[in-house]
Amino acid sequence: MILPNTDCYHRLVTVPLTHDASETDLAMMRRALLAAEHAAERGEVPVGAVVARGEEILAVAANEREATGDPTAHAELLAIRRASATIGGWRLAGCTLYATLEPCPMCAGAAHASRLSRLVYATPDPKAGYAGTLHNVPADSRLNHTLLVEGGLLEESAAGLLRDFFQNRRRKREKAAETSLP
Ligand SMILES: [Zn+2]
Repeated sequence: MILPNTDCYHRLVTVPLTHDASETDLAMMRRALLAAEHAAERGEVPVGAVVARGEEILAVAANEREATGDPTAHAELLAIRRASATIGGWRLAGCTLYATLEPCPMCAGAAHASRLSRLVYATPDPKAGYAGTLHNVPADSRLNHTLLVEGGLLEESAAGLLRDFFQNRRRKREKAAETSLP
């Protein structure tokens, strides 16, 4: 496998994919968005993830933090675990992780640990993004494995889902606070 050099990562991180995305990438991100939508319906912060090998989906997951009470039950981490279970091994070389939100430090670390070849995310996370925003673990050339990162695929859809979710939650809380007034 030829690993692209670091300059290439930076270029890809800053150039949105939206206009030249492949049909496969779009289909995979749409699947991840669907998982995120279902998560919102269950009261989870809507983040979805898919691990694919080419056109083959190995795993789909959504954030399950509320349902499981597990702080590590992020969509990306669950998708990586399930993909490894699917192929019967921890190495996900040659696979791509699609995430609707830029991975946090933990999930960016898991992408590194699993030897994934590529990460595609939809919307950046200014508060916890560790794949280009606050730091860039996947492209840190000091690590023993780096992966290609591309951001911005279907960004508006993913950002809109998160925005609507937090707006609704705020409204519900305000309503609850009003009705509990004496
Ligand atoms: Zn995470």
